[in-house]
Amino acid sequence: MAEGIVIDGKALASKVRDQVRADVEALKGSNHQVRLDAILVGGDQGALLYAKNQARACEKVGMTYCLHELNGDTREADVLDLIAQLNTEDAVTGIMVHMPLPSQMNAETIQSAIAVNKDVEGVNPANIGNVVFGRRSLVPCTALAVMELIESTGVKLEGANVVCVGASRIVGKPVAVLLMQAEATVISTNHHTKDRPNLTRHADIVVSAAGVPNLIGADDISEGTIVIDVGINRIENGEGKKITVGDVDFDAVKEKASYISPVPGGVGPMTVAMLLRNTVQAAERA
Ligand code: NAD
Repeated sequence: MAEGIVIDGKALASKVRDQVRADVEALKGSNHQVRLDAILVGGDQGALLYAKNQARACEKVGMTYCLHELNGDTREADVLDLIAQLNTEDAVTGIMVHMPLPSQMNAETIQSAIAVNKDVEGVNPANIGNVVFGRRSLVPCTALAVMELIESTGVKLEGANVVCVGASRIVGKPVAVLLMQAEATVISTNHHTKDRPNLTRHADIVVSAAGVPNLIGADDISEGTIVIDVGINRIENGEGKKITVGDVDFDAVKEKASYISPVPGGVGPMTVAMLLRNTVQAAERA
């Protein structure tokens, strides 16, 4: 059988960004601004880099990006006050809070305080609840990205057997819920699952979001499976250099898969594009 087609997440994300840019332009034409406010508490280097990339991504599509940088010793109550203020400001159309938060704060308390209609990362539990009920919602960006990559293959989801590897609140579970909404047959697995390879071998689509390098090998799938790799793992490449890999043994699995998303260049760029799309959708509804 021929090698699997590598899903080009960067190219797909670029198309989404073009559409977002056009939508932002149209909103501006009717005197509506699109503004994303991000809160970053403490100076986590990874979060700072992500914020810098976000600022650039927003600028490229014509959105205003406001970063609120707070000291690491800020009280939880002060962050909640800031969120409450942003929730009521009409000019602010999207809000997100960078992770990780300092230990004196509870991430769930903070995320639940973001107004449902401005929660562009889809982290307020009410938003995923709305997905379960089939209502309009702002859906977690990585889960949306996974759906976009799956849909780009043209596969029919009704009747497809999908195995999700990993069931976290922010990735695995929302992906499973979206797939159920699309009327796929979904099995959600976690680190307690018995004989997981036996489940993935019978799947039409495997989505891996476990954060374990080389978790999915060629023996774990059947010929023709669609494989979406959400994992982002930093490992030594054997020559003392750090590289980023996913959960899937890419080279081996590509030989058997019909489609496979790479890491980097698969789910990651699409996740950023989904944040922009959620932000413009929040502004359109405001
Ligand atoms: P998490 O640690 O919160 O959850 C991991 C899940 O995987 C848990 O449900 C756990 O039970 C399960 N798991 C662990 N080992 C397993 C195994 N052997 N078999 C089956 N299930 C297993 O992680 P997370 O926040 O969901 O992130 C998962 C991965 O996705 C990480 O590598 C993370 O960096 C990456 N990620 C990528 C993006 C992106 O935009 N591409 C976004 C978020 C997270």
